[in-house]
Amino acid sequence: MPDLRGDNSRELLKNLRNTLARVGDGQARLDRITRLIAEGMGTDVCSIYLCRDERTLELCATQGLNPGAVHKSRLHFGEGLVGRVAAEANPINTANAAREKGFRFMPETDEQYFNALLGVPIQRLGSVVGVLVVQSRESRLYSDDEIYALEVIAMVIAEMQELGAFTGEGRAMSKPHQRPLLIRGISGQEGATEGVVFRHELPIVISEPVADDPEAEKRRLLDAIDRLRISIDDLLSANMSDAGGEQREVMKAYRMFANSRGWVTRLIDGIDSGLAAEVAVEKEQSATRARMARAPDPYLRSRLHDLDDLSNRLLRLLTEKESADDVAIPDGAILVARNIGPGDLLSYGKALRGIVLEEGSVGSHATIIARAWSIPVVLHAETVTIEAMNGDVILVDGDQGLVHLRPEETVKTAFHDKIAMQAEAQEAYAALRTLPAVSTDGIRITMHMNAGLMVDLPSLVPSGAEGVGLFRTELQFLIRNAVPKRDELARLYSGIMDSARGLPVYFRTLDIGSDKVLPYMNPEDEPNPAMGWRAVRITLDRPGIMRMQVQALLRATKGRPLWVMFPMIAQFEEFKQARQLVMKEVEKEKALGHKVPEEIRIGAMLETPSLAFAADRFFELTDFISIGGNDLKQFFFAADRQNERVRRRYDTLNVSFLSFIRQIADRCDALGTPVGFCGEDAGRPLEAVCIAAMGLRSLSMRPASIGPVKHLLRKTDLGELRSVIQGSMDAGNTSVRPAVTEWMGSNV
Ligand code: PEP
Ligand code: MG
Repeated sequence: MPDLRGDNSRELLKNLRNTLARVGDGQARLDRITRLIAEGMGTDVCSIYLCRDERTLELCATQGLNPGAVHKSRLHFGEGLVGRVAAEANPINTANAAREKGFRFMPETDEQYFNALLGVPIQRLGSVVGVLVVQSRESRLYSDDEIYALEVIAMVIAEMQELGAFTGEGRAMSKPHQRPLLIRGISGQEGATEGVVFRHELPIVISEPVADDPEAEKRRLLDAIDRLRISIDDLLSANMSDAGGEQREVMKAYRMFANSRGWVTRLIDGIDSGLAAEVAVEKEQSATRARMARAPDPYLRSRLHDLDDLSNRLLRLLTEKESADDVAIPDGAILVARNIGPGDLLSYGKALRGIVLEEGSVGSHATIIARAWSIPVVLHAETVTIEAMNGDVILVDGDQGLVHLRPEETVKTAFHDKIAMQAEAQEAYAALRTLPAVSTDGIRITMHMNAGLMVDLPSLVPSGAEGVGLFRTELQFLIRNAVPKRDELARLYSGIMDSARGLPVYFRTLDIGSDKVLPYMNPEDEPNPAMGWRAVRITLDRPGIMRMQVQALLRATKGRPLWVMFPMIAQFEEFKQARQLVMKEVEKEKALGHKVPEEIRIGAMLETPSLAFAADRFFELTDFISIGGNDLKQFFFAADRQNERVRRRYDTLNVSFLSFIRQIADRCDALGTPVGFCGEDAGRPLEAVCIAAMGLRSLSMRPASIGPVKHLLRKTDLGELRSVIQGSMDAGNTSVRPAVTEWMGSNV
């Protein structure tokens, strides 16, 4: 077995590069590469599997296996050992493949003669594009040097693939970035739009993956690292505004990584093996991304994320790409980026038709601005920055969080129909804006909107909302890097009340914990965070922050009425304590001679089933109840609202859940407690009218849902609907949905 570090590795890479330079089609190149690797590494077999589509690997070339299996043998990600390498983006090294867990025998390849197997992912910018495999008859484990060498070769193959080296006619692979692709993300802002890809940062192109002169390459790398460190220090020392505070924390983490010796050593090792500096950085980045995908701990994930971002910055410095500022924004531009800061977004202005981010979060500054401009946004669109090229046609479905890249004609047509229908529906809904939300049997429902940021408020009037039924105050805390100051919050809350122009705003006190982890709070290591130390449990245990928030709210009113409610109240005592805290603050304000609200209504969110069974006295003391359906449903069915596997398993129109809602409505009615519903289901027309039929008279939802819900409500006889629901319950069904849908079809 040849020594695969240093000179030998460089020699092998050079041969690979020469193969690329030779005339010949893609298939001939692949064939020659497998021969070179098997010879160079002294193995009996070398095979290259490339992705036919996102989840399918195809044997594209082999030295040693049955050549008849080439372009015939296919595996899904996760299938067999090769599929497992792709799915886990991690090497597999085994002395006896047939005994390895997950082994799947592929008779067409004649691989039964080989015992040892080493497979490494072929990945570019962290995305797996294939698998490189060597096999030997002898039963042995490959050495660390061999693994490293094969990983280095895989990097070069990935770059060659990106450059289109393996494309050709017939059975060969088609050019990269030409396939239609559906990417699933999450919705950042609703709406459907079509346009062309506009990359915020130009894609990284590496035309020379193998370097002849390692010393020159190291100098280039170290120079780029120096520039990276300087740019980070500059950013850190710059007098950043409050909005940049979050960035400062990230920069500090960057600086720590940029100065880490281990990181630089690993990059230099890659260059010593013959890689160009850029590819050495990419190799390290791929390893980071694979670790990130496996890291169970969110804190560790976010640190790895910083490291990944750092690699990106370094790659840009090495490739010295022109900045996106130099590129004209095309008509119908849909911005595609890993992430984007508010400054960049503001500089593009409203020229953008849509935004697709690989990362981002609903509470991020960029999303906030996009929402204010009503630009459809899809977040967490994985791989979009690797796949999307400037000018590609792209369809953005902000309602479903879907992105169609380079869509087929049929998808385009269906999408155009959707856009046209939405436009028509929007017109119809707009016409309803000033009409009351009344059912055909005369039941009046109050329609409120949910909000969390100042930029949401302009939607109040156009949506026809009669107030803000849920103001999620934690968003203000989530977008900052430190606890906001009381006066700052008071100004903000006051601005919100001003924008609401006398309409009620139900402020919910800080609801953090569970998935809402403040960037400046040490994350709690809880086995079950949704049922852990969250919401009012935190603020009662650490009352300082709630006191400050309540003071800010009281001062913001300047004498106007105040609605305030507490999240996740699970028992009467918690409500009593929280209420008492507010009352005490009122007294303190009075003692200070400050104006206090002319009227204060203090309510509880009913998000745990236990509260529905609290003593009558609770219902009498609370001024109102707001059912937080998202949490209530997760606790009622014991089904994590964040877990895609179980999230949709239980229907909101399930007989048990609707009966429970009716029971709460009846109890509140009997005890004279106003009750509303503010979970996501309030914004789904069918669910909303069923909830109303159960006796709820106030619904709070996303502004865009008010039109559709009001539209259906105004055509529905709630009394009749209640009978239909009862009939379905009596018939012993699990969900009333089929009966309700059928009734709607013929009666509404
Ligand atoms: C709810 O749980 O239904 C709710 C409105 O609160 P959040 O979604 O913010 O937890
Ligand atoms: Mg909740």
